[in-house]
Amino acid sequence: MTIKEEDIAHLKEVDGDKTAISLTKEEFVNRMKEGVKIPSHVQIIFSDVEGSVTLEAVRDMVIPVMEDMEELSDLPVSDLYDVPLGLLRKDNLRCLGKCRFHRESFPERKYWPEEPRIEPKDVRRIDLCRTMLTPEWIRVAISVLFHEYLHALGFGGHNPMFRSLEALWPDEDANGGYPRKIRSHEHRMAFSEARRETLRWLWDSQGIPFSVWKKT
Ligand SMILES: [Zn+2]
Repeated sequence: MTIKEEDIAHLKEVDGDKTAISLTKEEFVNRMKEGVKIPSHVQIIFSDVEGSVTLEAVRDMVIPVMEDMEELSDLPVSDLYDVPLGLLRKDNLRCLGKCRFHRESFPERKYWPEEPRIEPKDVRRIDLCRTMLTPEWIRVAISVLFHEYLHALGFGGHNPMFRSLEALWPDEDANGGYPRKIRSHEHRMAFSEARRETLRWLWDSQGIPFSVWKKT
């Protein structure tokens, strides 16, 4: 499904060839539930999000969409509301998100396809990288939290099964998806590039050589 006619009517020109669409968080959730694909040249402006984005705002745009996904209908998706959310350390370089489990959970429960399976109550906390928590990159934060929630539902590793579930997220442009398909995730690529530049500047200003940077 592509973007709807009435959405196009609301599109306005920004920065020459870029186009923007203004949506509330609720409107975004509804678009995702309908499986609307937002074209890569369209920037979403969240009309009810300003300044830094809260973890709860991100959560509230992910779980309702997951609750609507038929593929996840046998899983305890609503229990994800009970999973505590936090932030990764400021000097984190590699990670966008991390799902941390209670130590004692793993001997008893396992990742799919083994049973009994890991569940949201086995999760101690999910941490997100704070550089995504801005109105500009909130779509990346949303898709990263979706990825971490799949781990919390008992899907481990990043195998083909996991990637096919990850591809269920309708905002493909912001999705991580299959690494070999990364070029089709333009918004995600733009985020990675912007983040790399910021980190490179940070490292330069601290006198850390680029050769060290490249290894991270
Ligand atoms: Zn992962």
